[in-house]
Parts: sequence; structure tokens; C-alpha cells
Amino acid sequence: MEKRFIQKTGEELSLLGFGFMRLPLKEGTQEIDKAKALDMVDYAKDRGINYFDTAWMYHEGNSETFAGEALSRYDRSSFNLADKMPLMFVKAEADVERIFQEQLKKCKTDYFDYYLLHNICTEHLKVAETFKIYEKLKEKQKQGQIRRLGFSFHDQPELLRDVVQRYDWDFAQIQLNYLDWEQQNAHEQYRILEKKGIPVNVMEPVRGGTLANLCPESVLIFKNANPAASVASWAIRYAASLSGVQVVLSGMSTMDQVKDNIATMENFKPLVTEDYQVIDKALLAFKSAGTVPCTGCRYCMDCPQGIDIPKVLAIYNNYLSGKARKAPTYNFLFEMEYKILGEDKQAHHCVQCDECLEKCPQHINVSHWMKEIDKVHKENSPK
Ligand code: SF4
Ligand code: SF4
Repeated sequence: MEKRFIQKTGEELSLLGFGFMRLPLKEGTQEIDKAKALDMVDYAKDRGINYFDTAWMYHEGNSETFAGEALSRYDRSSFNLADKMPLMFVKAEADVERIFQEQLKKCKTDYFDYYLLHNICTEHLKVAETFKIYEKLKEKQKQGQIRRLGFSFHDQPELLRDVVQRYDWDFAQIQLNYLDWEQQNAHEQYRILEKKGIPVNVMEPVRGGTLANLCPESVLIFKNANPAASVASWAIRYAASLSGVQVVLSGMSTMDQVKDNIATMENFKPLVTEDYQVIDKALLAFKSAGTVPCTGCRYCMDCPQGIDIPKVLAIYNNYLSGKARKAPTYNFLFEMEYKILGEDKQAHHCVQCDECLEKCPQHINVSHWMKEIDKVHKENSPK
């Protein structure tokens, strides 16, 4: 298993981490299939994975309980356990202590190796400030109940800059993969953390399975380049090849995924120039398959109405490919990404001036798509 040596603490982390957010479920239910999940944990642990990640709301609160059950069978010093303060559920100062104590109990531990402020965004940052959450957790770190304090992040780079200036962090967790590198500004987020010397935990390296289930054209490109490698392994290697990354978290749902990811990390080969070219080609084919053929070149910008045309189209393309694959959360993900983009950049501002049509090298009828996308948003958003 490929490891990362953490200079500050002198410890070694497995570059592949096991996320407990998409554990196998008993057929037709939302209940974790414990027997299968425990087998997966044992297999992973036996092969050197020593980083496990859970959170308050995963599996409707049952992920932490599962983590406690699964990991308490092992010597506590043989693994790293990560958990998170759910900022969205903190409504009063007392909630911080209550939630933290409950998490320790559920996880059957008296400390967390890695602890994060979960999903920092503008709104949650205000919660953190109002209830002095960072300060409270820092105190817990001094008392030994938290070894490393960090945060997870899904918002814009400007906010990330602010967050890393404001507080001192041991690590940060961002969504990073070869699709979001441009689309969600993951490259900018990565650079901000790299410049600050903050180690990066990667979440969604396979983008919730999207990058393991690409269109046939993209799959062919990957298979031609390396018939033995799985499609998902390209995405795992992409994230793992970045030098500032200490853990690539994969929310694995089947034993096959566990075996495949472990095989990738046991014989880890960082990407080389030719590999990046293969990924670019496959990504282009994916973006063009049944979706709006936007390449993200931004030649159409600026839109006089302030719409972020390439980003709106990218979010819509994710929606379309999720829908085609019948991904269970494609509506929800669309709304989440659309909200993060910001109201002022959304499609409904389009006045059909067609200035962008003239500038687009792909001759995309953007104004038509803006109407379609607004329709999807209106259908999906809560009434
Ligand atoms: S057609 Fe719509 S999206 Fe294009 S430039 Fe005009 S307002 Fe902006
Ligand atoms: S110019 Fe066309 S291809 Fe380029 S980002 Fe705009 S819509 Fe997409």
C-alpha cells in the first residue's frame, strides 16, 4: 500500500482512505449490510489501509456507529479515524459538546485522529464563528481528544482563501478529480492549500462514481491506453499523483471496488505526461457524449447579464450524465452545485441577446440551453 509520510507527526498514512459514506446496504433498504461492510473493512485493513472517515449524517447517523463497531475490533493505535462536526446541526453553543461526546461514544473511542469542521461555506462559517466552534475544537486538541484539526470544503476559492487566512489548520479536505479540476475550480483550491503548506485530503476522486461509469467512447480511450487498468483507477491515480495530497478518500460500496482501489494503490504509479493526455481525451469524449458540447474554453464570457455560461453548462452536463446512468442523487447534486454557483450567475438571467452564440467556437446555442436549464432548476428546486 502506497503511504504518505507526515513530517509533523512522523506517522505514515495510507494514500488510500476508506470513506464510510456509501457502505453496502441490505437489499431494498437504507440499512447498512454489516456483514458485507465488515468484510470490506477487514480486507482493507489487512492490506494496509489505515485511514477511515465517517461523519454525523452519513447513513442517517449510522456510519459512526458502524465505524465504532468495525474499528474497535482492532488495536486503536493501528488506524486513523476521521470524524466531523456537522455545522449544519449546530444551533447553540452546547450542541458542540453534546455532538462531540456522542460521536466519541458511537465510534467507541476517546479521541479522533483527524477531525473536521464539516462542509465550510459562507453560511456554516458564520455558525462556526457564532458558536466559537474552531476555538472549542482547538481546546479539545490541546486536551488530546483531537490529534489533527481540519475542515472540509465545497465552495468557491475566494472563501477558501479567507478560511485558510483566518485559522490555523493541520489539513483540509476538498473535492478533487479530473472533471472538477476545471469545472469546480479544484485546481485553484489545491494551489491555495499548497501555497499555505496545508496537506490535502481528497474527497470524491471518482466523483460519486461518475468517473467509473463514463460513456463508451471514454471507456474505449482508457482501455486502449491500458487494457488491464479499470476506468476508476485513472481517477484514483489522478488525485493520488498530486504531491500535496496525503489521503485519497474513496467511499467504497462493494468488495470489488475495495479490491480495485487497493490494487491501484499497491502498485501505485504516478501519472506521466502520456497519461494526462489520455485523461484529457477521455474527458473530452465524456463531455461531448449526449451532453452540451461545451469545452469550457470561456470564449463566450463575459455574459452581459453576469451568467457563468461554462459553469452553468458543466453543471447541466453532470445532471444529464447522472440522469442517463440513473444515478440516484443526480437531481440533488444538480441543485447543490447550482446553489453553490450563486444566484447571480444562474441561467434565469438570460435575456436571449445571443452575444455568446457569436463568440462560441462550438456554435452552441447557449440561450436555448439557458432556458432548458432554468426549467430543470425550477422542476428540481423545493417549492
Ligand atoms: S444569450 Fe443569454 S447567456 Fe448569452 S450572452 Fe446573452 S444573456 Fe448571456
Ligand atoms: S464559448 Fe462555447 S464551448 Fe467555449 S465555454 Fe462558451 S459555450 Fe462553452
